[in-house]
Amino acid sequence: MDLVSPHPFWLLKNGLLNEYPSLPGDVRCDVLVLGAGISGALISHGLVRAGLDVVVIDKRDVACGSTSASTALLQYEIDEHLIDLTRRIGKRDAERAYLACHGSIDTIERLAFEVGARCTFRRRPSAYFAAKQSDVAILRREGDARRAAGIVADFLEEEEIRAHFSFSRPAALISTQAAQLDAHRLAHTLLHDSAARGARIFDRTRVDEFVPGTREVRLKTDTGHVIRASHVVFATGYESQDFLPRRVVQLKSTFALATERVTRFPGWWKQCLIWETARPYLYLRTAADGRILVGGEDVPFRDPVRRDRLVESKTARLEKRFRELFPQIDFKVDYRWAGTFGETKDGLAYIGQIRQMPRCHFALGFGGNGITYSAIAADIIREALAGRRHPDAHLFRFDR
Ligand SMILES: Cc1cc2nc3c(=O)[nH]c(=O)nc-3n(C[C@H](O)[C@H](O)[C@H](O)COP(=O)(O)OP(=O)(O)OC[C@H]3O[C@@H](n4cnc5c(N)ncnc54)[C@H](O)[C@@H]3O)c2cc1C
Repeated sequence: MDLVSPHPFWLLKNGLLNEYPSLPGDVRCDVLVLGAGISGALISHGLVRAGLDVVVIDKRDVACGSTSASTALLQYEIDEHLIDLTRRIGKRDAERAYLACHGSIDTIERLAFEVGARCTFRRRPSAYFAAKQSDVAILRREGDARRAAGIVADFLEEEEIRAHFSFSRPAALISTQAAQLDAHRLAHTLLHDSAARGARIFDRTRVDEFVPGTREVRLKTDTGHVIRASHVVFATGYESQDFLPRRVVQLKSTFALATERVTRFPGWWKQCLIWETARPYLYLRTAADGRILVGGEDVPFRDPVRRDRLVESKTARLEKRFRELFPQIDFKVDYRWAGTFGETKDGLAYIGQIRQMPRCHFALGFGGNGITYSAIAADIIREALAGRRHPDAHLFRFDR
């Protein structure tokens, strides 16, 4: 599957920060982490630090899947509002899911600092706008529900929005727990740190077959080498469907642009993360070097040829929408790209084991807040491999 259009932004910006050899022969390990995007990088890092013998394998260069295309807004909000998730799974679990995502932003920040990649992470407030008048009541109830769960969420009236921004909307929820990330660089840095701690990393090596067993999992690569692992973690992103017994994600395509460096941001309060109640939603952020990233315009198919034909027209529309919001910001579009994206039925990730596949663990952080799910998956899987049950594991189980 072609996960991203030919020139994903972060790969152009950062280049190939580290290269690894392909797998040279058969190998044995405690844990094979399959996939070296931000999920595989976070998971393998946690496992190596827990003292396990870890092998990481990716069929591409590392971090060149979805992670290289991600606009990487770090938000605790799940695709489904807390009030809707509460109706679906109950108040206690819905709040737990929101709080787990909330906490994962702190986890990512701490890790970025620990591995010397603090430049990849920057806190910003996040503004969630009502796209139309009828969404105001929803935002009010959503704000109440979040505050009841202990999450700071300030309600902004139309007048206050006009005072802070160069545009008007009927209402907004402001969150202080949010950040912007360079997920590509963070994944590289985490992997580099893991390698220094003893992880064996191989890229450009595809796993084609796997046979779960009660004592070990045997896997075979495209070059015929055999991997024998006590456990396997599938951190294979939107390509995981091939390894699963049933479909758990609806795949679609999304589009994004990055501008040249901008020095002034009139009408953009604190250069906050911006998104809205409309579906699909428009979302915006800035980057450390002053670029603006704008994403959205999702289409409900993943065919890469059709998707890439739309890059010009979809990003032209994103540019027009941005200019309508911020007519005083002077910018030129520099990069345009597209990627595969996925959503689940309830906005929750799929993390954990499937009964008929012993010793196989999945880390499928599907959704608009996919990266916060990657961090949660790293915690849950590390605990499972230590023989402990994570208190949030049941929220993301496959048989829900
Ligand atoms: C345009 C765009 C914007 C996004 N914006 C946001 C955002 O603002 N905030 C957010 O949180 N999320 C966002 N996402 C989602 C986020 O990028 C993903 O959730 C995240 O990158 C997934 O990381 P991953 O490591 O799970 O997957 P990937 O980065 O795709 O890594 C999986 C790896 O598995 C490897 N692999 C797959 N199959 C095999 C195999 N058989 N053998 C060996 N290796 C294999 C692949 O080569 C790949 O490198 C966005 C995604 C896109 C495309």
